[in-house]
Amino acid sequence: MITQCCVCKKVHASEGWQNLTPARLAAMNGPISHGYCPECLAKALADIESLVNPTAAHQEKKETAAIPLLAAIPGAVR
Ligand SMILES: [Zn+2]
Repeated sequence: MITQCCVCKKVHASEGWQNLTPARLAAMNGPISHGYCPECLAKALADIESLVNPTAAHQEKKETAAIPLLAAIPGAVR
């Protein structure tokens, strides 16, 4: 099974994600499954994040938002 990135068309080969020529891809002679390479996955996740939660996409870290909430709970460990 050959995994090809559906965005940048890199192929997951034994040496990692690579740009292969169509001829070399054809020479691998196997069924092609499409997915995301790590770079495009990170971009896709960021895009999804901004679609699902447009305001939160501009925050640096979600974890920082939870700290004031925890501090506001009486008896919570500070
Ligand atoms: Zn990619």
